[in-house]
Amino acid sequence: MRLETMLGDITKVKCDAIANAANTSLLGGGGVDGAIHRAAGPKLLEECRTLHGCDTGKAKITRGYNLPAKYVLHTPGPIWRGGNHNEEALLAGSYRSCLELAVEYGCKTVAFPSISTGVYGFPLDKASKIAVKAILDFLQEHEEIERVIMVCFSQDTKKWYDEVISETKM
Ligand code: ADP
Repeated sequence: MRLETMLGDITKVKCDAIANAANTSLLGGGGVDGAIHRAAGPKLLEECRTLHGCDTGKAKITRGYNLPAKYVLHTPGPIWRGGNHNEEALLAGSYRSCLELAVEYGCKTVAFPSISTGVYGFPLDKASKIAVKAILDFLQEHEEIERVIMVCFSQDTKKWYDEVISETKM
């Protein structure tokens, strides 16, 4: 199984790349974004300033600086606005764009937080299904990625991802 879940803090995960649930400015925010910037140190923000933002559902890469991960994949997930604003496609796009960049940079292990399900309000039942499908679809086509870890910050979040994974035939 190349997709797994863990309960924990993504800033502590040692892998080739971690994803950041960023905002479109890429200039830092709260939640996991704030935690990643604090752990990486001020050089991360310096590099982010050179990127001039990122569209929702896309991704941009930086170095990881003081993080144990080599790279950070910054992706603004969609803000949940009721479900009729292309939120599902945009969320799948965030996962896919991060994984495409990871392949381009030779990463074999990638960790994700639960994108958009914090302040951005995406319902976890829907988000977990979209995330797992986007990741597994990508893994099927890309042998280069050896392992993807969904890093869940709460037991409740982990329960959703575990359930979707166990229901999915792999
Ligand atoms: P968004 O704005 O995309 O909703 P948030 O950062 O508000 O992003 O939340 C996304 C998810 O990341 C939430 O499930 C939140 O609990 C989780 N989270 C917050 N801090 C961390 C962390 N250090 N490691 C992993 N996940 C985290």
